[in-house]
Amino acid sequence: MKILFYDTKSYDEEFFTAALEGFENIEIDFLKTDLTPKTAPLSEGFDAVCAFVSSDVGRKTLRALHDRGVGLLLMRCAGFNNVDIEAAKEYGVRVMCVPGYSPEAVAEHAMALALAANRRLYKSYNKVRENDFSLVGLMGVNFYGKTAGIIGTGKIGAAMCRICRGFGMKIIAYDVYQNPALSDFVTYVSLDELLSESDLISIHCPLMDSTYHMINIDSIKKMKDGVILVNTSRGGLVKTNDLIEGIRLHKFAGVGLDVYEEETKNVFEDRSDEILENSTTARLLSFPNVMITSHQGFFTREAMRAIADTTLRNAVDFMNGVPSKNDVK
Ligand code: NAD
Repeated sequence: MKILFYDTKSYDEEFFTAALEGFENIEIDFLKTDLTPKTAPLSEGFDAVCAFVSSDVGRKTLRALHDRGVGLLLMRCAGFNNVDIEAAKEYGVRVMCVPGYSPEAVAEHAMALALAANRRLYKSYNKVRENDFSLVGLMGVNFYGKTAGIIGTGKIGAAMCRICRGFGMKIIAYDVYQNPALSDFVTYVSLDELLSESDLISIHCPLMDSTYHMINIDSIKKMKDGVILVNTSRGGLVKTNDLIEGIRLHKFAGVGLDVYEEETKNVFEDRSDEILENSTTARLLSFPNVMITSHQGFFTREAMRAIADTTLRNAVDFMNGVPSKNDVK
Protein backbone atom coordinates (compact mmCIF):
# COMPACT_ATOMS: atom_id res chain seq x y z
CA MET A 1 0.00 0.00 0.00
CA LYS A 2 1.31 3.47 -0.92
CA ILE A 3 0.63 6.51 1.30
CA LEU A 4 1.34 10.10 0.29
CA PHE A 5 2.20 12.06 3.42
CA TYR A 6 1.42 15.80 3.30
CA ASP A 7 2.90 18.67 5.32
CA THR A 8 5.87 16.62 6.51
CA LYS A 9 8.09 18.06 9.23
CA SER A 10 11.42 16.49 10.27
CA TYR A 11 9.81 14.91 13.35
CA ASP A 12 6.98 13.33 11.27
CA GLU A 13 9.50 11.66 9.00
CA GLU A 14 11.60 10.50 11.97
CA PHE A 15 8.71 8.90 13.87
CA PHE A 16 6.82 7.45 10.88
CA THR A 17 10.00 6.02 9.35
CA ALA A 18 10.80 4.34 12.68
CA ALA A 19 7.24 2.99 13.01
CA LEU A 20 7.27 1.63 9.41
CA GLU A 21 9.69 -1.13 10.42
CA GLY A 22 6.76 -3.11 11.80
CA PHE A 23 4.64 -2.68 8.63
CA GLU A 24 6.22 -4.42 5.63
CA ASN A 25 3.40 -3.80 3.12
CA ILE A 26 3.32 -0.04 3.56
CA GLU A 27 5.38 2.53 1.67
CA ILE A 28 5.31 6.26 2.43
CA ASP A 29 6.35 9.21 0.25
CA PHE A 30 6.85 12.34 2.33
CA LEU A 31 5.84 15.73 0.88
CA LYS A 32 6.56 19.08 2.53
CA THR A 33 3.55 20.78 0.95
CA ASP A 34 0.21 20.66 2.76
CA LEU A 35 -2.96 19.05 1.38
CA THR A 36 -5.16 21.56 -0.49
CA PRO A 37 -7.33 21.34 -3.63
CA LYS A 38 -4.23 22.38 -5.64
CA THR A 39 -1.89 19.76 -4.17
CA ALA A 40 -4.42 16.90 -3.99
CA PRO A 41 -3.70 15.82 -7.63
CA LEU A 42 -0.16 14.83 -6.52
CA SER A 43 -1.84 11.77 -4.98
CA GLU A 44 -2.16 10.05 -8.40
CA GLY A 45 -1.00 6.44 -7.96
CA PHE A 46 -1.35 6.41 -4.15
CA ASP A 47 -3.92 4.39 -2.19
CA ALA A 48 -4.06 6.79 0.73
CA VAL A 49 -3.04 10.26 1.85
CA CYS A 50 -2.03 11.34 5.34
CA ALA A 51 -3.00 14.85 6.50
CA PHE A 52 -3.02 17.00 9.62
CA VAL A 53 -5.00 19.69 11.51
CA SER A 54 -4.18 22.57 9.16
CA SER A 55 -4.78 20.65 5.91
CA ASP A 56 -7.65 21.86 3.72
CA VAL A 57 -9.73 18.70 3.36
CA GLY A 58 -12.91 20.27 2.04
CA ARG A 59 -15.12 19.09 -0.80
CA LYS A 60 -12.76 20.17 -3.63
CA THR A 61 -9.81 18.33 -2.11
CA LEU A 62 -11.86 15.19 -1.51
CA ARG A 63 -13.16 15.22 -5.08
CA ALA A 64 -9.60 15.56 -6.40
CA LEU A 65 -8.46 12.65 -4.19
CA HIS A 66 -11.38 10.50 -5.33
CA ASP A 67 -10.63 11.32 -9.01
CA ARG A 68 -7.04 10.06 -8.47
CA GLY A 69 -8.29 6.77 -6.98
CA VAL A 70 -7.41 7.57 -3.35
CA GLY A 71 -9.69 5.58 -1.06
CA LEU A 72 -8.34 6.53 2.37
CA LEU A 73 -7.64 9.77 4.24
CA LEU A 74 -5.48 9.15 7.28
CA MET A 75 -5.74 12.05 9.73
CA ARG A 76 -2.70 11.89 12.02
CA CYS A 77 -4.57 13.76 14.77
CA ALA A 78 -7.62 13.47 17.04
CA GLY A 79 -9.71 16.38 15.70
CA PHE A 80 -11.16 16.32 12.17
CA ASN A 81 -13.16 19.56 11.98
CA ASN A 82 -11.15 20.48 8.84
CA VAL A 83 -12.53 17.45 6.95
CA ASP A 84 -15.83 17.61 5.06
CA ILE A 85 -17.16 14.27 6.28
CA GLU A 86 -20.30 14.42 4.13
CA ALA A 87 -18.22 14.99 0.99
CA ALA A 88 -15.86 12.16 1.99
CA LYS A 89 -18.86 9.81 2.24
CA GLU A 90 -20.17 11.01 -1.11
CA TYR A 91 -16.81 10.39 -2.83
CA GLY A 92 -16.21 7.08 -1.04
CA VAL A 93 -13.05 8.24 0.73
CA ARG A 94 -12.72 6.46 4.08
CA VAL A 95 -11.54 8.81 6.85
CA MET A 96 -9.64 7.54 9.87
CA CYS A 97 -8.13 9.46 12.77
CA VAL A 98 -6.09 8.87 15.91
CA PRO A 99 -8.33 9.56 18.88
CA GLY A 100 -6.70 9.76 22.28
CA TYR A 101 -3.07 9.01 21.35
CA SER A 102 -1.80 10.60 24.54
CA PRO A 103 -4.41 12.59 26.45
CA GLU A 104 -1.83 13.38 29.13
CA ALA A 105 0.38 15.17 26.57
CA VAL A 106 -2.36 17.75 25.90
CA ALA A 107 -3.59 17.95 29.50
CA GLU A 108 -0.04 18.52 30.81
CA HIS A 109 0.39 21.31 28.26
CA ALA A 110 -2.92 22.85 29.37
CA MET A 111 -1.63 22.95 32.95
CA ALA A 112 1.73 24.30 31.74
CA LEU A 113 -0.13 27.17 30.02
CA ALA A 114 -2.26 27.80 33.11
CA LEU A 115 0.83 27.97 35.33
CA ALA A 116 2.87 30.04 32.88
CA ALA A 117 0.06 32.58 32.41
CA ASN A 118 -0.68 32.70 36.15
CA ARG A 119 2.96 33.20 37.23
CA ARG A 120 3.98 35.18 34.08
CA LEU A 121 6.85 32.76 33.42
CA TYR A 122 7.36 34.11 29.88
CA LYS A 123 7.93 37.59 31.37
CA SER A 124 10.24 36.46 34.16
CA TYR A 125 12.34 34.40 31.73
CA ASN A 126 12.96 37.48 29.59
CA LYS A 127 13.42 39.84 32.54
CA VAL A 128 16.10 37.73 34.21
CA ARG A 129 17.97 37.39 30.88
CA GLU A 130 18.16 41.21 30.89
CA ASN A 131 19.46 41.30 34.48
CA ASP A 132 16.10 42.65 35.65
CA PHE A 133 15.44 40.83 38.90
CA SER A 134 12.42 42.86 40.01
CA LEU A 135 9.12 41.13 40.72
CA VAL A 136 6.73 43.86 39.62
CA GLY A 137 4.11 42.44 37.25
CA LEU A 138 4.81 38.80 38.14
CA MET A 139 2.35 38.18 40.99
CA GLY A 140 0.05 35.18 40.56
CA VAL A 141 -2.37 33.18 42.70
CA ASN A 142 -2.14 29.75 44.36
CA PHE A 143 -4.01 27.01 42.52
CA TYR A 144 -4.24 24.99 45.76
CA GLY A 145 -7.77 25.23 47.18
CA LYS A 146 -9.13 27.00 44.08
CA THR A 147 -11.85 25.71 41.72
CA ALA A 148 -10.97 24.25 38.33
CA GLY A 149 -13.81 24.18 35.77
CA ILE A 150 -13.26 21.62 33.02
CA ILE A 151 -15.40 21.88 29.88
CA GLY A 152 -15.49 18.46 28.20
CA THR A 153 -14.42 15.46 30.27
CA GLY A 154 -13.47 12.97 27.57
CA LYS A 155 -9.94 11.60 27.42
CA ILE A 156 -8.03 14.90 27.66
CA GLY A 157 -10.48 16.64 30.00
CA ALA A 158 -10.36 13.64 32.35
CA ALA A 159 -6.55 13.76 32.37
CA MET A 160 -6.78 17.50 33.18
CA CYS A 161 -9.19 16.72 36.05
CA ARG A 162 -6.62 14.28 37.49
CA ILE A 163 -3.84 16.87 37.19
CA CYS A 164 -5.97 19.54 38.92
CA ARG A 165 -6.76 17.07 41.69
CA GLY A 166 -2.99 16.69 42.20
CA PHE A 167 -2.79 20.46 42.72
CA GLY A 168 -5.38 20.26 45.53
CA MET A 169 -8.08 22.00 43.53
CA LYS A 170 -11.84 21.49 43.78
CA ILE A 171 -13.00 20.25 40.36
CA ILE A 172 -16.29 21.02 38.65
CA ALA A 173 -17.08 20.03 35.08
CA TYR A 174 -19.54 20.53 32.26
CA ASP A 175 -20.14 17.93 29.56
CA VAL A 176 -23.11 16.62 27.61
CA TYR A 177 -22.16 13.17 29.02
CA GLN A 178 -20.83 12.48 32.50
CA ASN A 179 -17.62 10.44 32.68
CA PRO A 180 -18.18 7.72 35.35
CA ALA A 181 -14.41 7.36 35.91
CA LEU A 182 -14.40 10.83 37.51
CA SER A 183 -17.38 10.40 39.82
CA ASP A 184 -15.41 10.29 43.07
CA PHE A 185 -13.74 13.69 42.69
CA VAL A 186 -15.52 15.72 39.98
CA THR A 187 -18.89 17.45 40.36
CA TYR A 188 -20.88 18.04 37.16
CA VAL A 189 -22.61 21.43 36.95
CA SER A 190 -24.34 23.50 34.27
CA LEU A 191 -22.15 25.56 31.94
CA ASP A 192 -23.36 28.78 33.57
CA GLU A 193 -22.45 27.47 37.01
CA LEU A 194 -19.03 26.41 35.79
CA LEU A 195 -18.41 29.84 34.26
CA SER A 196 -19.40 31.70 37.41
CA GLU A 197 -17.61 29.47 39.97
CA SER A 198 -14.29 28.57 38.38
CA ASP A 199 -10.92 30.19 39.08
CA LEU A 200 -9.38 28.20 36.24
CA ILE A 201 -11.39 27.24 33.14
CA SER A 202 -9.88 24.73 30.74
CA ILE A 203 -11.65 23.77 27.49
CA HIS A 204 -11.49 20.17 26.24
CA CYS A 205 -14.63 19.64 24.13
CA PRO A 206 -14.59 19.24 20.34
CA LEU A 207 -15.40 22.01 17.88
CA MET A 208 -18.83 21.43 16.37
CA ASP A 209 -21.70 23.67 15.27
CA SER A 210 -23.07 23.47 18.82
CA THR A 211 -19.78 24.47 20.47
CA TYR A 212 -18.58 27.09 17.95
CA HIS A 213 -17.84 30.36 19.86
CA MET A 214 -19.10 28.86 23.13
CA ILE A 215 -16.76 31.33 24.83
CA ASN A 216 -18.07 34.74 23.74
CA ILE A 217 -18.68 38.05 25.47
CA ASP A 218 -21.86 36.73 27.15
CA SER A 219 -20.11 33.70 28.61
CA ILE A 220 -17.04 35.79 29.51
CA LYS A 221 -19.21 38.24 31.47
CA LYS A 222 -20.51 35.29 33.53
CA MET A 223 -16.95 34.37 34.61
CA LYS A 224 -15.36 35.43 37.89
CA ASP A 225 -13.07 38.43 37.74
CA GLY A 226 -9.49 37.21 37.83
CA VAL A 227 -10.25 33.89 36.14
CA ILE A 228 -7.57 32.01 34.18
CA LEU A 229 -8.77 30.67 30.82
CA VAL A 230 -6.96 27.94 28.90
CA ASN A 231 -7.85 26.59 25.46
CA THR A 232 -5.93 23.61 24.10
CA SER A 233 -8.90 22.22 22.16
CA ARG A 234 -9.80 24.17 19.00
CA GLY A 235 -9.57 27.89 18.19
CA GLY A 236 -13.19 28.23 17.04
CA LEU A 237 -14.47 27.46 20.55
CA VAL A 238 -13.42 30.96 21.62
CA LYS A 239 -14.56 34.09 19.78
CA THR A 240 -11.27 35.97 19.62
CA ASN A 241 -12.63 39.49 19.37
CA ASP A 242 -14.82 38.87 22.42
CA LEU A 243 -11.84 37.45 24.28
CA ILE A 244 -9.94 40.66 23.53
CA GLU A 245 -12.90 42.66 24.82
CA GLY A 246 -12.96 40.53 27.98
CA ILE A 247 -9.21 41.08 28.51
CA ARG A 248 -9.78 44.85 28.17
CA LEU A 249 -12.52 44.57 30.81
CA HIS A 250 -9.81 43.11 33.14
CA LYS A 251 -11.76 39.84 33.39
CA PHE A 252 -8.74 37.55 33.20
CA ALA A 253 -5.73 37.05 35.47
CA GLY A 254 -4.28 34.99 32.66
CA VAL A 255 -5.12 33.48 29.30
CA GLY A 256 -3.26 30.50 27.85
CA LEU A 257 -3.98 29.49 24.27
CA ASP A 258 -2.49 26.58 22.36
CA VAL A 259 -5.15 27.10 19.67
CA TYR A 260 -6.83 30.22 18.32
CA GLU A 261 -9.06 31.15 15.40
CA GLU A 262 -6.35 32.57 13.14
CA GLU A 263 -3.91 29.73 13.62
CA THR A 264 -4.33 27.81 10.35
CA LYS A 265 -1.79 29.89 8.39
CA ASN A 266 0.64 29.90 11.30
CA VAL A 267 0.56 26.34 12.54
CA PHE A 268 4.08 24.88 12.44
CA GLU A 269 5.40 27.58 10.04
CA ASP A 270 8.24 30.01 10.65
CA ARG A 271 6.70 33.38 9.74
CA SER A 272 9.20 35.47 11.72
CA ASP A 273 10.22 37.44 8.61
CA GLU A 274 6.67 38.45 7.68
CA ILE A 275 4.52 41.42 8.59
CA LEU A 276 1.22 39.91 9.67
CA GLU A 277 -1.52 42.29 8.61
CA ASN A 278 -4.86 42.61 10.44
CA SER A 279 -3.72 40.00 12.90
CA THR A 280 -5.90 39.56 15.98
CA THR A 281 -3.21 37.17 17.22
CA ALA A 282 -0.79 40.11 17.38
CA ARG A 283 -3.39 42.06 19.39
CA LEU A 284 -3.75 39.17 21.79
CA LEU A 285 0.01 38.96 22.21
CA SER A 286 0.17 42.64 23.10
CA PHE A 287 -1.44 41.89 26.49
CA PRO A 288 0.89 41.03 29.40
CA ASN A 289 -1.41 38.28 30.72
CA VAL A 290 -1.68 36.23 27.52
CA MET A 291 0.53 33.32 26.57
CA ILE A 292 0.14 31.64 23.19
CA THR A 293 1.78 28.47 21.93
CA SER A 294 1.43 27.05 18.45
CA HIS A 295 -0.73 23.93 18.71
CA GLN A 296 1.99 21.97 20.50
CA GLY A 297 -0.21 20.26 23.10
CA PHE A 298 0.16 16.89 21.40
CA PHE A 299 3.90 17.24 20.85
CA THR A 300 5.67 14.73 23.08
CA ARG A 301 7.80 11.73 22.07
CA GLU A 302 5.21 9.36 23.54
CA ALA A 303 2.38 10.97 21.56
CA MET A 304 4.35 11.02 18.28
CA ARG A 305 5.15 7.30 18.67
CA ALA A 306 1.48 6.52 19.36
CA ILE A 307 0.27 8.69 16.43
CA ALA A 308 2.63 6.97 13.96
CA ASP A 309 1.77 3.49 15.17
CA THR A 310 -2.03 4.02 15.19
CA THR A 311 -2.01 5.73 11.78
CA LEU A 312 -0.20 2.73 10.25
CA ARG A 313 -2.57 0.30 12.02
CA ASN A 314 -5.47 2.29 10.55
CA ALA A 315 -3.91 1.78 7.10
CA VAL A 316 -3.71 -1.99 7.76
CA ASP A 317 -7.42 -2.08 8.73
CA PHE A 318 -8.18 -0.32 5.46
CA MET A 319 -6.10 -2.87 3.48
CA ASN A 320 -7.89 -5.73 5.23
CA GLY A 321 -11.29 -4.09 4.70
CA VAL A 322 -12.20 -4.30 8.38
CA PRO A 323 -14.10 -1.61 10.32
CA SER A 324 -12.23 0.28 13.02
CA LYS A 325 -13.05 2.32 16.11
CA ASN A 326 -10.90 5.03 14.49
CA ASP A 327 -13.26 5.43 11.51
CA VAL A 328 -14.68 8.97 11.32
CA LYS A 329 -18.37 8.78 10.43
P1 NAD B 1 -12.98 13.14 23.58
O1 NAD B 1 -13.91 12.82 22.45
O2 NAD B 1 -12.38 12.02 24.38
O3 NAD B 1 -13.71 14.12 24.61
C1 NAD B 1 -14.50 15.20 24.22
C2 NAD B 1 -15.54 15.45 25.29
O4 NAD B 1 -16.28 16.61 24.94
C3 NAD B 1 -16.55 14.29 25.40
O5 NAD B 1 -16.68 13.87 26.75
C4 NAD B 1 -17.85 14.90 24.88
O6 NAD B 1 -19.01 14.38 25.51
C5 NAD B 1 -17.62 16.37 25.26
N1 NAD B 1 -18.54 17.25 24.57
C6 NAD B 1 -19.13 17.11 23.36
N2 NAD B 1 -19.95 18.14 23.10
C7 NAD B 1 -19.88 18.96 24.18
C8 NAD B 1 -20.50 20.18 24.53
N3 NAD B 1 -21.37 20.76 23.69
N4 NAD B 1 -20.19 20.75 25.71
C9 NAD B 1 -19.31 20.15 26.56
N5 NAD B 1 -18.70 18.99 26.29
C10 NAD B 1 -18.99 18.40 25.12
O7 NAD B 1 -11.84 14.04 22.95
P2 NAD B 1 -10.37 14.32 23.53
O8 NAD B 1 -9.42 13.28 23.02
O9 NAD B 1 -10.44 14.55 24.99
O10 NAD B 1 -10.00 15.67 22.76
C11 NAD B 1 -10.67 16.88 23.06
C12 NAD B 1 -10.29 17.92 22.02
O11 NAD B 1 -8.91 18.26 22.20
C13 NAD B 1 -10.36 17.43 20.56
O12 NAD B 1 -11.64 17.66 20.02
C14 NAD B 1 -9.32 18.25 19.86
O13 NAD B 1 -9.99 19.36 19.26
C15 NAD B 1 -8.41 18.76 20.97
N6 NAD B 1 -7.01 18.32 20.82
C16 NAD B 1 -6.03 19.27 20.85
C17 NAD B 1 -4.69 18.89 20.73
C18 NAD B 1 -3.55 19.88 20.78
O14 NAD B 1 -2.44 19.56 20.35
N7 NAD B 1 -3.75 21.08 21.29
C19 NAD B 1 -4.38 17.53 20.56
C20 NAD B 1 -5.41 16.59 20.56
C21 NAD B 1 -6.74 16.99 20.68
